[in-house]
Amino acid sequence: MKLTPYQLSIFNDNAYLFAEQAEIALKKLLEKKHLYQSVEVGSLTFLNFPGDVPNWDFDQWPPERSYHPDDPQFDTELDYTEDAIRAMRWTIMTTPHSPGWFISVKNQTFVDVSLPIHPPPVQLYCKVCKRKTAYNFLLGYDVFEEAPVTFYWNKNESEQVFVLVYQCQTCRSQPEVFLIQRHRSTIDQFTPARLTLTGRMPLETPIIPRNLPKKERKHFRNAVIAFDSGQALAAKFLLRIFLEQYVRGVATNPEVRSIESLFDEYNATLPDDFKQRFPSLKSIYDQLSEDIHAADETPEIFETAKQKIVEHFDAKRVFKISN
Ligand SMILES: [Zn+2]
Repeated sequence: MKLTPYQLSIFNDNAYLFAEQAEIALKKLLEKKHLYQSVEVGSLTFLNFPGDVPNWDFDQWPPERSYHPDDPQFDTELDYTEDAIRAMRWTIMTTPHSPGWFISVKNQTFVDVSLPIHPPPVQLYCKVCKRKTAYNFLLGYDVFEEAPVTFYWNKNESEQVFVLVYQCQTCRSQPEVFLIQRHRSTIDQFTPARLTLTGRMPLETPIIPRNLPKKERKHFRNAVIAFDSGQALAAKFLLRIFLEQYVRGVATNPEVRSIESLFDEYNATLPDDFKQRFPSLKSIYDQLSEDIHAADETPEIFETAKQKIVEHFDAKRVFKISN
């Protein structure tokens, strides 16, 4: 494929912008998403130049064949460029890139070029530092890099799987390894690329509020892990176990079979002004039970229940209620 300098400049400028979008998406995926969740790489509206492309100058290149934006051929050039950039494989780079060197073309011909992606630093929770802190990208590669093209380009979908290794820049302890799938349909060129977090080592540590009862907090933690992995129903079940085990643990007779009476007994230990201001654990338990019996996989009740439980135990601390 021959490229004119003009085409090459379009290609380079837009490939750079697309790589920036891809890196923003990667950061969002690692910081905000959990296992099996996805982000989309920004739409290609930024390719609507010249207005949207910084420093775009039509006179910058003495093109062999120039297309004015009013020229119908100009759109064809854009389509071609967009499609080509979307279809490029990504190559993980350990050093940041700068505009200008993106696509190196010998004799204005490119074959099998790839888009250089430099995974940006991210904010993650560090178990050693016990807080959210900056993680630097150490190394990464495409698992299918050496594989034949049919291996990853199948069923009209382009697919890559990246291993990315990050390390806490404060304590430099055990690195965190992420497995990320890049997936996109090649049928519709306007479908954005999708990145999915498909693996993580070690498993993400959810931050558990410190006022929760120590003995039962493992159930709360497991509930959050299940929820973050897309298993809302299992998460509700585990959160219900947390409540059940807690009221059993503080009961005078934990062997009582009726969970209702255990909740009532617990509720009776709370001061009236506390009960007026905060929802009872029993009402939270009942809402979770309703969803579990209906096999309801929607996230809302879990999120509200989780928030109310945290508020309940935070308030107990404020009220200086010991159990
Ligand atoms: Zn650390």
